Amino acid sequence: MYSIDLSGRHALVMGVANHRSLSWAIAQCLHQAGAELCLTYAGERLQSTVEELARSLPGVIVLECDVTRDETIDAVAKTLGERWGSIEMLVHGIAFAKKEDLEGAFVATSRDGFQLALEVSAYSLLNVTHRVLPLLEKNGGSIVTLSYLAAERAVPSYNVMGSAKAVLEQSVRQLAYELGPKNVRVNAISAGPVSTLAARGIHGFTDMLKKHAERCALKRNITKEEVGKAALFLLSDLSSGITGEVIYVDAGYRMMGW
Ligand code: NAD
Repeated sequence: MYSIDLSGRHALVMGVANHRSLSWAIAQCLHQAGAELCLTYAGERLQSTVEELARSLPGVIVLECDVTRDETIDAVAKTLGERWGSIEMLVHGIAFAKKEDLEGAFVATSRDGFQLALEVSAYSLLNVTHRVLPLLEKNGGSIVTLSYLAAERAVPSYNVMGSAKAVLEQSVRQLAYELGPKNVRVNAISAGPVSTLAARGIHGFTDMLKKHAERCALKRNITKEEVGKAALFLLSDLSSGITGEVIYVDAGYRMMGW
């Protein structure tokens, strides 16, 4: 018999902004499976919201971490090293691009905007992994990041975030290759559109939701809980033979020929 029991395992979940966040859906699934959790938030503005969410999951640790500030990542690694001694699961649900770079012409993306989007949305996967690697290596682990179809297709308004997702997905493969010998697996979930804070920043997002539901095989949009369940699979031993992959949780959108 196979079941998912994550008791005694530790999950660092990054990218919870509010109850709509995909990382929050993943955190809830991990908690139900018995994992110990640390949630990180970026910036004081989100602190009270994330702390309030965390109160609904007893025992959860909440720490600040802004991936543009290495010292905050190192502080998380230090705290979890002292509290837990190891990390078995890392969830990277982080992305950011300047509003103007998601509204205007892609060709006009500023140098700063391009660098910032790629730093926060793609480089952070490497940088965080590197800084918590001593904890991940202890017992072996599984890393999951969140991507979108714009990594490989032209999607209106997605602009520089598509570039960031392409880099993110290549980084998943390169990291999976490099960390495989340490028994650390790395995978991405490419999710269909879900209404979240980040998604609302994409110009025309409501229209995207509608078109997606019309065109995909299941004729509906996905839920954040479906992303949570797929992440639970990728973070648990049920997926022990899978690494370096992008798994599509998109209600059958990508595979369609129209
Ligand atoms: P969200 O806004 O809830 O989450 C994005 C998170 O990134 C926020 O918690 C935000 O605080 C964090 N973040 C931004 N800058 C940061 C920084 N400097 N340091 C640390 N954290 C920072 O939205 P979401 O949709 O849950 O996004 C999570 C991930 O899922 C993103 O990578 C997004 O691109 C991806 N994704 C979302 C969808 C969708 O339709 N919602 C689809 C596919 C992929």
